[in-house]
Amino acid sequence: MEKMERVALAVDALAALMRELEDRGYRVVGPTVRDQAIVYDDIASLADLPQGWTDEQDGGRYRLVRRGDDALFGYAVGPQSWKKFLYPPVLRLWETAYQGERVSVVPAEPPAERFAFIGVRACELHAIAIQDRVLLGGPHVDPHYHARREGAFIVAVNCSVAGGTCFCVSMKTGPKAEAGFDLALTEVVVEGTRLFVAEAGSDSGRDVLSRLPRRPATAEELAAAETAVSRAAAAMGRQMRSDDLRELLMRNLEHPQWDDVAERCLTCGNCTMVCPTCFCTSVEDSSDLAGGGASRTRRWDSCFTLDFSYIHGGSVRASARSRYRQWMTHKLATWIDQFGSSGCVGCGRCITWCPVGIDITQEVRAIREAEGGDGGRHEG
Ligand code: SF4
Ligand code: SF4
Repeated sequence: MEKMERVALAVDALAALMRELEDRGYRVVGPTVRDQAIVYDDIASLADLPQGWTDEQDGGRYRLVRRGDDALFGYAVGPQSWKKFLYPPVLRLWETAYQGERVSVVPAEPPAERFAFIGVRACELHAIAIQDRVLLGGPHVDPHYHARREGAFIVAVNCSVAGGTCFCVSMKTGPKAEAGFDLALTEVVVEGTRLFVAEAGSDSGRDVLSRLPRRPATAEELAAAETAVSRAAAAMGRQMRSDDLRELLMRNLEHPQWDDVAERCLTCGNCTMVCPTCFCTSVEDSSDLAGGGASRTRRWDSCFTLDFSYIHGGSVRASARSRYRQWMTHKLATWIDQFGSSGCVGCGRCITWCPVGIDITQEVRAIREAEGGDGGRHEG
């Protein structure tokens, strides 16, 4: 890819970017405010963005509050991730078709639409890369994920604020987008003017950028962009030593902390639904009692449900203790054996959206402290 210098885009150029992507046939998706949360949905103009909003997050707590300025991306992350589009929660896999007496199985068509995602955070780029390894990297490629992922255009937006439950610095996944994007933007205010410092990360990103009204970024604008990201990095709501997690958890599989967390865990599965890397699903077959046909549907499932580990006569993980332990040790330890990286990107969603505020960083800290460590206050 030919290198392109970082350029400055006026706020209006973002509207031009949306139009350009639409003209190229993309379905443009980005952050918007709905139901008192920032969610990802179709966007058509700047007015759809969460201008002037930010999020306050803590264990079991999420609130939108006004920022006191007009920032378009002045929040951390909401309850949803991009897997909602790349790996839909409910997906019809096939249905039957009748030709006279003959019945045939008709697989679902791959979607014709291509997504353009605007506002992808650095931790979310890492989450997409993890799902790529899981769903595309092995011998069994998921054709549905492949079809959605292949044509996607990704506009990353570097974080200038950190959420109260974020710990991407600990997981080395943010807050600056380093790879995996077509365009990366940093929102800054220089001499009272709001603008974006932009860089291309792919040939198609470079081509799109060349169609937008732009000018070379000044040294002051580049410095402001660096400062914005550094400010977010210094304001992480959580931290967790991550260099030895696999060994720490695997030698503590019988630790009393698993009983402690089981006392609090509702096994509701919220943490797995909001996690941008969790990928477990189940399939359901249904048939029309009136003879109208049959179909198979894939749905997100969770290792927190009893049914998930049901094998000929019983659930392997019958207790809350065993289910929480399965989730956390898979995410932070055995995922590394299976896929070569941690399954956690430090987005903090599982902490924020746990109804009882169970905090993965705190659970790790409790186990570490019981071993006589510093609880992970020093970055790994
Ligand atoms: S385990 Fe929690 S913090 Fe880590 S990626 Fe999943 S939701 Fe985010
Ligand atoms: S840790 Fe929290 S979100 Fe996850 S299953 Fe338990 S209660 Fe639900």
